[in-house]
Amino acid sequence: MIKRVNYLSKVYGIKNGWTLDVYEREVQGYQAAKKALRMTQQQVVDEAKKMNIRGRGGAGFPMGIKWSFMKPHPTKPAYLVINADEGEPGTHKDRTIMELNPHSVIEGCIIGCFGIGAHVAYVYVRDELHLSKERLWSAIKEAKAKGYLGKTPFGIDYPVEVYVHTGAGAYICGEETSLLNSLEGKRGEPRLKPPFPAQAGAFGCPTTVNNLETIAMVPAAFMMGGDTYSQLSALHHLRDGGSRLFGVNGHVKKPQVIELCVGVTLRELIYDIGGGIEGDRELLGVIPGGSSTPILRADEKVNAPDEKSPLHPWHGKSVLDVPLGVDTMRGIGTMLGTCCATVLAEGTCPVLAMENLMQFYRHESCGQCTPCREGGAWLFRTVTKILDGKATMAELDNLHDIANNIMGNTICAFGEGTAMPALGFLQKFRKDFEAYVLGERTREDATLLVNL
Ligand code: NAD
Ligand code: SF4
Repeated sequence: MIKRVNYLSKVYGIKNGWTLDVYEREVQGYQAAKKALRMTQQQVVDEAKKMNIRGRGGAGFPMGIKWSFMKPHPTKPAYLVINADEGEPGTHKDRTIMELNPHSVIEGCIIGCFGIGAHVAYVYVRDELHLSKERLWSAIKEAKAKGYLGKTPFGIDYPVEVYVHTGAGAYICGEETSLLNSLEGKRGEPRLKPPFPAQAGAFGCPTTVNNLETIAMVPAAFMMGGDTYSQLSALHHLRDGGSRLFGVNGHVKKPQVIELCVGVTLRELIYDIGGGIEGDRELLGVIPGGSSTPILRADEKVNAPDEKSPLHPWHGKSVLDVPLGVDTMRGIGTMLGTCCATVLAEGTCPVLAMENLMQFYRHESCGQCTPCREGGAWLFRTVTKILDGKATMAELDNLHDIANNIMGNTICAFGEGTAMPALGFLQKFRKDFEAYVLGERTREDATLLVNL
């Protein structure tokens, strides 16, 4: 069900919409922060839990629960760290917020800091996003000048400072512990978890890491009340609340980022929002939420005969008709991820698509874990060999083993992020892979039509 909202995007289309004047005039900017700072920390966390915001970075961990993990430490300060190192292929939603509504981020940081007991928030931004950084810096300057940030925000004795920290464009620095290492000036390599950042995060102190869209959504959700916000979603019964930015890209006529209530289906996203497939071709498949999420074939059906399954209402129906949610996508064997779908039209070669992705993952692995470093490179080399007509059937079969041996054997989720999409392509498009091994198709026949 498509329900358009514009809590974040109302200022997108307004002249100078990124400035404080417009933010205050059009969306009651900073009223939520003012309200929150007059409540108790526990009340703010309770409200955050009611919102049922599932983390918008990709993992879908409930934001309010994450905030509740933060316990005051006798000697160490707490930190809020915002992950704006958006690097997932096909995902450009956080960037729109930074460029067009940066004050929602700053206001979200004030509420978040207060809720978790922090006085400092770091926004870690991908260095290439020059306009994003400029807009955030300018928003911080405006908020400080108005007395909304600093020693006594809104005249209340609860100091809050927000700093922008720039990364250097490594995909792995979007992984939260790698990001923390990078923030500390160390090499951007993931740490083993536990300890989770809530126990030992930035500079060894209790830290909450939230995705940028997650924190930017907090002020509007806070103003309308957590329960009301949660119930905007058709999936609020699955604790997947509110609204979010949906992206659609690849072979659609109108690629875009749009703000909708949670509950829209892939079919609606592709055909109603995205305007259908370029050249009115048929749909081959869709990668639902960034390249780490396994592809769904256009002809896949939901298999949920158990009446207790949350997916049961869609049993036997097309996967394209399942509402996009964290648990619903897990239920059909993929992930919601960043909720930015990449659409592949009929005619795209899935083998070439996999090679393209494996090249990316091989390049971006930090190299700490052997299964990821060697396995990722091996996957890439073998798919290349298949496309070049030089691989045997045994090598094709071996790809499954390589991917399965990466799963669960690495320090961070990057390993699974490489293996899961690889297994998705291998399991769902076996015949295409075999065609190359059997010499029925050559690399010259393969078209990608779009870079993933
Ligand atoms: P995760 O499931 O390990 O963790 C999710 C969050 O919950 C983390 O903040 C973690 O600290 C917290 N958490 C989980 N269990 C906890 C516990 N027991 N105690 C305290 N805190 C706990 O996932 P992840 O590695 O953070 O993220 C993986 C996802 O990131 C992938 O699914 C992928 O879709 C996504 N991703 C996004 C981008 C992007 O550009 N947005 C890029 C790459 C990957
Ligand atoms: Fe680095 Fe890959 Fe290991 Fe993650 S899984 S720590 S990216 S080698």
